[in-house]
Formats: sequence, C-alpha cells, structure tokens
Amino acid sequence: MKLTAKLTLTFLLVSLAAIGLAAVFVGITTSIGFNQYLVDQRLEQFVSVASEYYRSHGNWPGVDNVLRTNGLLPPLVAPGSPPPDPQPYALVDQNRQVIVPGGPFQVGDKIQKGTLTKGIDININGLVVGTVLQTGAAPVRSTIENKYINSVNQSLLVAGLGGALIALLLGLFMARTLTQPLRALTAATHSMAQGQLSQPVPVQSNDEIGELAQSFNQMVTDLAESNQARRQMTADIAHDLRNPLTVLGGYLESLQDGKLSPTPARLAVMQAEVQLLQHLVEDLRTLSLADSGELTLQRQPVSPLDLLTRVSDTYQQQAEEKGIHLLIEAPQDLGEFSLDLARMEQVLGNLVSNALRYTPQNGQICLQAARKTPGLELSVHDTGSGITPDILPHIFERSYRGDSSRSGNESGLGLAIVRSLTELHGGSIRVESQLGQGSHFMIILPG
Ligand code: ADP
Repeated sequence: MKLTAKLTLTFLLVSLAAIGLAAVFVGITTSIGFNQYLVDQRLEQFVSVASEYYRSHGNWPGVDNVLRTNGLLPPLVAPGSPPPDPQPYALVDQNRQVIVPGGPFQVGDKIQKGTLTKGIDININGLVVGTVLQTGAAPVRSTIENKYINSVNQSLLVAGLGGALIALLLGLFMARTLTQPLRALTAATHSMAQGQLSQPVPVQSNDEIGELAQSFNQMVTDLAESNQARRQMTADIAHDLRNPLTVLGGYLESLQDGKLSPTPARLAVMQAEVQLLQHLVEDLRTLSLADSGELTLQRQPVSPLDLLTRVSDTYQQQAEEKGIHLLIEAPQDLGEFSLDLARMEQVLGNLVSNALRYTPQNGQICLQAARKTPGLELSVHDTGSGITPDILPHIFERSYRGDSSRSGNESGLGLAIVRSLTELHGGSIRVESQLGQGSHFMIILPG
C-alpha cells in the first residue's frame, strides 16, 4: 500500500474513531437526559392528576381511568395479548395498598413503610391520602417525543458522515502534501540512478522532510564532486601510466629492430621509467588500502630524532646534487613515540621530496621535531617557491597538481598519501605557505 493511502487511511480511521465516539456519547447523553426530563415531567403530571382526582372524588377507585385518559397509563389490553411495558409510577393508597400498578408493584400489594418514604405523598387538606412510587422503569415516549429523539440521532448520523467525508478529503490532501516532497526525492533518486547528478530537489519546508531534501542535495553535490574528482584522477593516472609506457615501448621496439643498441645509459632510462611505474602503482595501492581500512600500522617505539635522521640520510645526496641545504632540528630528549617507522618515513619522505622539487639552489629544507603537549609535532620547512593561496586548500586532494603542465615523476598522490597515513596514526596535518618565501608542513601526532 502506498504511503499516501496509508496516511489517508490513518487520518480517516482516527477521525472516524473520534467522530463515532463523540456521536455515541452525545446520543447516549441526550437519550438519558431526555428520559430523565420525561420522568420528572410525567411524575409531576401523575401526582397532579391523581391529587385532582382525589380532591374531586374523595376516594381512589376510577383514578386509573383518568390517568389513562391523560396518557399517564398505557391503554388497556385485551385479555391474551402481551402485557404492557412496566410503568414508571405506581399509586399506593393511605392503607399502603397498590391501587395503580407500576414496575414490580401489583394491584393489592402491601407496601413496606420504608419503601413508601421514598415516594411522593399526595396531601389533601393536610392528610396523606396516597403515595406515588417511582419504579425506575423508562417512561413511554409519545410519538412526538420519539420523533424528537430520532431526529437528534439522525442529525448525529448526518454530522458523523459529513465529518468522515471532510476527514477523508482533508486526510487525502494532507497525505498528498506530506508525501509530495518524498515523491520529488524518489524521482530525484531515479534520475540519480540513471547518472544525472545535477538535479537538486526543491526544499519546501523546514521540517524533517525539508532536512532530508537538504541532506539529499548535499549528498548529490558531494557525489557529483567526488565523481568529477574520480574521473579526473582516472584520466591523470591513465596519463601518468601512458608516458613511461610510451617511453619503454619506444625503446623496446627500437632495441628489437636493432635500430638502437642497449647501452647502459638507455637501460638506465628504461629502469627509471619502470621505477616510476612501480612508484605510481605503489602509491595507488597505499591509498586504496587506506580507503578500504585494510592498511594496518606496524607500530613500534620510535625516536623522532632517529626518524628524521633516516629521512635526511635518504635525501641527503639528492639535496647535495641540487645544492640545497638539508638539516635537522630536534632536541635529543624527545623520548619515543609509538609509530609505524616505515610509514612515517614515507610521510616525511614525500614532504621532503616535494620540498626538494620546489626549492631552488642554495635553498634550505629543515626537518623539525618538537614535543607538543600531549603529542609530537613533526614539520618540514622549505625556502622554496611557496604555494599560491588559491591552490593551498586543495593540495591534499587526490591527483591535485598545482601546476598541471608539469610532468615527471609526480603522481599528484603524494600529499593525499601523507594525509591518509597521518590520519591513520590519529594525527593531523596542516600547511602554511607564502609565495616566494617557502612552505611549512606541520604534522601533529598524538602522544
Ligand atoms: P605532486 O605529485 O604533484 O607533487 P603532491 O600531492 O605531492 O603531488 O602535491 C600536490 C601539489 O602541491 C603539487 O603539485 C604542488 O603544486 C604543491 N606542493 C606540494 N608541496 C609543495 C612545496 N613544498 N612547495 C610548493 N608547492 C608544493
């Protein structure tokens, strides 16, 4: 069953229950109230007619006829026909004997004194000549009175049916209004499933459904962005793979044809291209392992100074070749931190390798470590070209290259890996950079 139908049915059932209860309650109350009114009114008449009769006749015989004539007793029934309904009043004479029957009291019954005290005495000239007893039976209604009660019941039925109809229409309207944004969302998810990520859902309300539409739109935007980034990354990777493969392919073909001879220099070029490919594939593997949560750290107690020394040793020769001063600034007594040595070497190695790329001759790259309560700060400070403010917020994104024209062994994944591995250690990374002055990458690791 559709949500609209369910909501409409719920509205209808709730309204019907409320209307039905109200109608039954009003019907019963009206009927009870009306009966009570009739009982009181008839009792007054009964007493009055009986008193009048006694006053004019001086005795009781024949009073039942007069009461019957006044409609206060049912007409006499022929012998053999069903007895009339029990009457609401009985008349008892001064000898406590029933002279007009009613309810359980039959003609001739002797009534207890206690019962008589509950009745209404008929007092003529200061003398109690009889008592009217109420039997509790419902008074017989006249045709007009029955008509009145019937018309009340009819009105209640019409009001109930009208209420139900209005409830149905309102329910339908409300259900459609409530489910309209959901239908829009469903339509949007259908078009999303077909690959259209550009259609936002209109946000029409501030309620939960409005929030849902907002989050849906946010999700679509994020999805479109990440789709775009994925496409860009795939294109970049394809491009990065193609370059070394083209070089290798060209060399191999020429070597096979005998056009080129395998000199050590040519083999070194080919070796470098293979290394580049290995590097790229390894970077991609690291990122995809980190993404899927499968990258586990081999933590061990590591002295930050040892870590910086290892990284510095790895890049020292490269730095010297480029005429860059690579130095370490770290106190001896930093103690040890639980880190994955190889992964942290990779993190700092990526930062140093970037710094080497963007720092000119005679520049300086400084590897620093310092205790930051309660953790450790590792930083790489260079005096290179710096990063322009417009690209600064994006440099940790995958495949983001500040300079898209650049080629060489940059995969655009270096800083993305740095961030992933830092976060895997429970740490964070940030960068400060001034164009023409240099860049300062800071990693904060928990203690
Ligand atoms: P790439 O492989 O392109 O170096 P990275 O993720 O390592 O990819 O870096 C992303 C971009 O950040 C680089 O293309 C470059 O524009 C910028 N960048 C990173 N480190 C530095 C630095 N030390 N100095 C200047 N720019 C940098």
